[in-house]
Amino acid sequence: MISNQMNDLSKLCIHTITTKPWEIEKAAKNYAAAGVKGITVWRDALKGRNIRETGQLLRDNDLTVVSLCRGGFFPNRDPSKREAAIDDNRKLIEEAVELGTKLIVLVTGADPNQSLEDSREQIYEGISAIIPDAESAEVKLAIEPLHPMYADSRSAINTIAQANQMAEDLNSPFVGVAVDVYHLWWDPDLENEIKRCGENNHLFAFHICDWKTPTNDLLLDRGLMGEGCIPIKKIRSWVENAGFHGFHEVEIFSSLYWKQDQSELLKDIIHAYHKYV
Ligand code: ZN
Repeated sequence: MISNQMNDLSKLCIHTITTKPWEIEKAAKNYAAAGVKGITVWRDALKGRNIRETGQLLRDNDLTVVSLCRGGFFPNRDPSKREAAIDDNRKLIEEAVELGTKLIVLVTGADPNQSLEDSREQIYEGISAIIPDAESAEVKLAIEPLHPMYADSRSAINTIAQANQMAEDLNSPFVGVAVDVYHLWWDPDLENEIKRCGENNHLFAFHICDWKTPTNDLLLDRGLMGEGCIPIKKIRSWVENAGFHGFHEVEIFSSLYWKQDQSELLKDIIHAYHKYV
């Protein structure tokens, strides 16, 4: 059943990158004033800050720190770079603890100088290496499958089926999957794979935005919910039927929207959230 009721804002989370021109302190204040209850922090928003104090500031604004974005980028033909990536992910787990969040999103990476199969093996090895750190810190890791247009250098995991399989193979309660409608909406197996994800308790996060036609930039032209062709309400009903009742995270990278008045953008996000999610 797809509900036509208006959403309250208790499940609305915004990624700091969505309002990138705002420093995190300003984003927190403005999200809270608008009634938003969750924030996902991009690592660059923490630059030069005391992470523990920043986490406290977010909580003081009555915001749940839903996740820290993003770890991953494990594959590389050069073994020393793979080691460096593992070290960096370990550091990120420490940062998640300081920030006070229980979830890290992994953009798993890919190296165009090797096969996708090799990259996937290195992703498996990379995540395996950090699972003990994640477990002792009690921080979960969400594998985010990315649209195949990013298979060259950002993610060798491109379908939710691949992410599900990887999470099942890694077999830790601390490893699951992030469902981002932008990356997955086109997949004919999406409903079944979301169900599989939920049945295995692997559904850790739900990211929303829209797919514009035409899309003018592979990375920085995401749309607001309702602006494109993604059946967001339908996919939301699938994740909820699969047992997910966490935050709906608005994650929009848009060079167009970053140029606008961010207070207006925030209003538009809330309007779109009521109407199209
Ligand atoms: Zn995402």
